[in-house]
Amino acid sequence: MSNVKERLNLTAHPARLYTKLENGEVICHLSPRQCRMKPGQAGFCRVRQNENGELVTLNYGVSVQLTQEMIETEAVVHHSPGQPILSLGNIGCMLNCDFCHNWQTSQVRFVKKKDIQRYTPEQVVETALNRGIGILSWTYNDPVVWHEFVCDTARLARQHGLLNLYKSAFYISPQAIDELHEVIDIFSLSLKSMDPTFYRRVAKGRLEPVLEGIKQVYSYGDRHLEISNLIVTGMNDSMEEVEKVVHWMLKELDETVPLHLVRFHPDYKYTHVERTSVEFLKKARLRALEMGIKHCYLGNVYEEHEGLNTSCAQCGNVLVKRFGLQTQLVGINEAKKCKQCNRPTPLKFTKPRTQIPTPSATDRFEKNTSFLWNQDINACHVILENLSSESRRVVSRQQAEKVIQLSPGEQWRFICSKQSNEDKGVELFYPGDVEVKFVELLDRAHYPV
Ligand code: SF4
Repeated sequence: MSNVKERLNLTAHPARLYTKLENGEVICHLSPRQCRMKPGQAGFCRVRQNENGELVTLNYGVSVQLTQEMIETEAVVHHSPGQPILSLGNIGCMLNCDFCHNWQTSQVRFVKKKDIQRYTPEQVVETALNRGIGILSWTYNDPVVWHEFVCDTARLARQHGLLNLYKSAFYISPQAIDELHEVIDIFSLSLKSMDPTFYRRVAKGRLEPVLEGIKQVYSYGDRHLEISNLIVTGMNDSMEEVEKVVHWMLKELDETVPLHLVRFHPDYKYTHVERTSVEFLKKARLRALEMGIKHCYLGNVYEEHEGLNTSCAQCGNVLVKRFGLQTQLVGINEAKKCKQCNRPTPLKFTKPRTQIPTPSATDRFEKNTSFLWNQDINACHVILENLSSESRRVVSRQQAEKVIQLSPGEQWRFICSKQSNEDKGVELFYPGDVEVKFVELLDRAHYPV
């Protein structure tokens, strides 16, 4: 029996998508690994195992802390720009990339009890509704190995009018993708390289199923899709590699699918190199546009640059101006068309749910603390804990003020990011019985423990 189960005090939940063999073994069909497990054995991801001839999942409802972020955190810029999302990550992964920035949760052997919480589908949906968040984002380590919980919760979320976003390296089987098609609205999929050796050597997987999976989502024709390519220093940071990704997208998808060229930071087993050169990303973006991609974006870049904005494909007018993860709709009219040429934009809009309470004159704050940006750190997670038995309010001040309401005993986590060149950091004002902690963020879709 897996010692992960005892060490992290996990419970078994029935898994789907597997075959039982007569000798008591099972074959898991969730990812292309198709792990074959004897009774008592776990699969490569360590969170699915054979218990008495049945496949079970050990991470049903086992999550890192729910976190409020914005949709741009997930490399999604053509759907619901600027809208809040409720990010959920779990433990385990069907890959093991040498440069993984979520290795402390994706590789189960590193997971600590203190880093996991437990939620039911009802609790997740209720949190989103109470916080006025319209989109659940299945992200971080990788949602593939959380399949049963993702499907159950996403289905319930839809019944309450919420959308679901799936951010993944997408090493997943066709049957599982068909199940996701029923419940996921937005797919943000990561294509690491077009080199099969890269996938084998660096990610411990295979390229072909990832390509087939992306094609399958595209073939449905009714789901929003954006593609990310993480450019890793010394591994795939060549123009030839980027050209191969673009060529494949133009051949198998189409020129309107947004491509994100994402800056990498050294992590896990790959720490001896520099961050990706921003100059290279800019050149690679121009090459992708020259080859025919209509919208190519720079990811994890905090500066004013056209590679972060969305422009009208017809007249070039800037529709959305961005800085890092911040979004301003500047060139869109009330009919959601281009202000300049009145043509449709590539953006899909949803009605925001968030109602931000304003600070009240009766709010009294005994404490304040701040987190300042520096050359490398342009974003952070803020973790709040209300230690009192009454509701509390906290004010977060950047260029504008935001009020966060906390119920008695509640913990809440949310992202802040640099909003402009002039923005120095974020300042928090809070009562004495609220605890505040900041955690540095180096990447998007990054959950630091
Ligand atoms: S999800 Fe993938 S890695 Fe995990 S047990 Fe199933 S086939 Fe193996």
